[in-house]
Amino acid sequence: MDNWSKIRNIYCIGRNYRLHALELGNVVPNEPLVFMKPSHAASAMSGGVIRIPGKQGEVHFELEVVLRMGRAYEPGTDPHACIEGMTLGLDLTLRDVQSKLKAKGQPWLPAKGFQQSAPLGQWLPYPGEKELQEHTFTLYRNGLAAQQGCVRDMLFPVAELIHYVGTHYGLGEGDLLFTGTPAGVAALADGDKLQLLWGEQELGSCTIEIV
Ligand code: ZN
Repeated sequence: MDNWSKIRNIYCIGRNYRLHALELGNVVPNEPLVFMKPSHAASAMSGGVIRIPGKQGEVHFELEVVLRMGRAYEPGTDPHACIEGMTLGLDLTLRDVQSKLKAKGQPWLPAKGFQQSAPLGQWLPYPGEKELQEHTFTLYRNGLAAQQGCVRDMLFPVAELIHYVGTHYGLGEGDLLFTGTPAGVAALADGDKLQLLWGEQELGSCTIEIV
């Protein structure tokens, strides 16, 4: 199945892990914080090069569990039953740009929406919430663990995110949901070699090129 041409809306959740919210000096939200990336941001982490902007300050990695919808969510139905696939992805962020936008109260698109700002690993069938919570997920940078998380630590669990986004904005087949990043975000450097690990399973890798 060609999952790439089917990608439609890319929703992202901010501050869904307490320690990450605090590491950036943000308050812990009392409802999900939702933003979007253009579908053009999606890019396969399949061993090749990911190019990121080099003239606008630091680009941070944010490792996240990414869910793909297989059908539309309707209130009253089981949110998990609408999810078709999962993978790990990076919500790449121009952090200095984002700080300036936040200070001015402006939208985050320039910081979050640049091309290739949503690298994705290979898709796995959605295993259900129980198995989702049993795994840790890890980003390796140059062979060392750089960021690690577990879905159990989400402030808003998967079902709540699907219900919130689905009822406010709509969720349908081909939509992706980045579910937020755990603590440990940091700046990327030219030549960094990245690997996405779901438990012990590698879902994707790439080399970063700063242009
Ligand atoms: Zn994020």
